[in-house]
Amino acid sequence: MRIVTGPTDRVVVVGAGLGGLACALHLAAAGRQVTVVEREPVPGGRAGRLAAQGYEFDTGPTVLTMPSLIEEPLAAVGERLTDWLELTPLDPAYRAYYPDGSTLDVRTDTVRMAAEISRVCGPREADGYLRFVDFARQLWQLERHHFIGRNLDTPFDLLNLNLLKLLGMGGFRRLQPKMGEFFRDPRTLRIFSFQAMYAGLAPHDALAIYAVIAYLDSVAGVYFPKGGMHAVPRALAGAAEKHGVTFRYDTTVTRVETSAGRATGVITADGSRIPADVVVLNPDLPVAYRDLLPPGRSRKLRYSPSCVVLHVGSRQAYRKIAHHNIHFGTHWKRTFDEVIRDGLLMSDPSLLVTNPTHTDPAAAPDGRQTYYVLAPAPNLVTGPMDWRGDLAERYAASLVRTLERRGYVGFGDGIEVQRVITPADWQDQGMAAGTPFAAAHTFGQTGPFRPSNLHPALENVVFTGSGTQPGVGVPMVLISGKLAATRITGAS
Ligand SMILES: Cc1cc2nc3c(=O)[nH]c(=O)nc-3n(C[C@H](O)[C@H](O)[C@H](O)COP(=O)(O)OP(=O)(O)OC[C@H]3O[C@@H](n4cnc5c(N)ncnc54)[C@H](O)[C@@H]3O)c2cc1C
Repeated sequence: MRIVTGPTDRVVVVGAGLGGLACALHLAAAGRQVTVVEREPVPGGRAGRLAAQGYEFDTGPTVLTMPSLIEEPLAAVGERLTDWLELTPLDPAYRAYYPDGSTLDVRTDTVRMAAEISRVCGPREADGYLRFVDFARQLWQLERHHFIGRNLDTPFDLLNLNLLKLLGMGGFRRLQPKMGEFFRDPRTLRIFSFQAMYAGLAPHDALAIYAVIAYLDSVAGVYFPKGGMHAVPRALAGAAEKHGVTFRYDTTVTRVETSAGRATGVITADGSRIPADVVVLNPDLPVAYRDLLPPGRSRKLRYSPSCVVLHVGSRQAYRKIAHHNIHFGTHWKRTFDEVIRDGLLMSDPSLLVTNPTHTDPAAAPDGRQTYYVLAPAPNLVTGPMDWRGDLAERYAASLVRTLERRGYVGFGDGIEVQRVITPADWQDQGMAAGTPFAAAHTFGQTGPFRPSNLHPALENVVFTGSGTQPGVGVPMVLISGKLAATRITGAS
């Protein structure tokens, strides 16, 4: 494994996103002197928090999987997760709603889930589900340590017995046909393959290795942290501070200072210089290359689709919904084609509706509810729309109408607070192509082919976050923090 050369005592981590925080904890554990420089007044980055009129909203991730990956950086400094976070397993993990009016509760207990599938789709489908669980569990075990949790310098690093096993299991076939070997009913097919969208791809384009995402949420479990997802970065930052990491909030880095092929420090917007032996960059990777580093040849990336998020503080409660609710439109392939290939808004939306106050009433004033509606939308490269005009409000109004048609009676009338976040907002927050989901996980942007966490020319510049390896989402980004730290400490 390639590692940073020269001294590594003083490390500056730019950005207190989950990647930067995990990296800072692992480095502090290895005795490095770490300074985290964060533009915002709080940690978390995409896992932020928005407060309005007594309501509190998580601005980014809502589906928390694999808490053991939060445990890891905490354990590195001798802290226990339970001392920092109170996690509630969500049961059901999701409730799925289909256009024919049927619903399916996704339970992480496989016996209860098989019974649920049998109830909705029949016993043959339940057998297929149990075979899928075996397949996906094996996939995760193979991928976790050999491909996801390792620094990969070249594609040759992949050549081992596990690669043959993955090939043999059909991991490099397309996800959709692979899932067809387990599921016949379009409802189960959808609930176990829509997660390809998290990897930035349609199920008919994604590789079957991405079935692990469905495994992580639908089988390994979904959790809710008390105080919302933003409690996670707060916990990591609190533990890091306790173990000697210095935080400089409200401080924007404007460039990495370099000399003779090395970074020597960072320069901040107020003109100060923070010296460093190593610089770790957590901002969106293409933007870090563009804005913070010396000009070089930039690689053309294919980006994931983006999303519109509608945050609503409301008087209306709906007894029949769960914490996470997925409402599928009638169309399947067409929806992915519209958003990913054609740069269009969904004509027949599939939506994630999260109701955090279902589990955490403290996020709203007494008797009130919060809703987080996530609508996949094209990124600004495939769908360069004018979100700064009245499109945001018009689209929000159309989402409200869709929800009312799908059973959220009086949704519009109940709204007390509304915020709409669009691809233009993600772009303003420094995310390339206006997407918070980074480069898509195409074959050419996966594993060793994804942008490296080492700078090609500057020997002591390391990247962490969703733009580098292993990829997008809270679990992967936490792993990326550890991988970045490993490049500096040399420990594996
Ligand atoms: C709407 C939405 C829904 C999501 N849903 C899920 C989900 O349900 N489950 C899941 O697992 N994942 C989800 N994700 C993805 C997940 O949130 C991200 O992959 C992850 O949080 C990214 O972390 P990061 O460390 O890469 O980057 P970031 O969180 O973006 O951190 C980068 C940090 O760098 C700071 N920064 C940037 N530039 C500078 C600068 N010049 N100077 C100083 N600081 C700077 C930023 O302020 C930020 O704090 C979602 C994301 C969004 C936005």
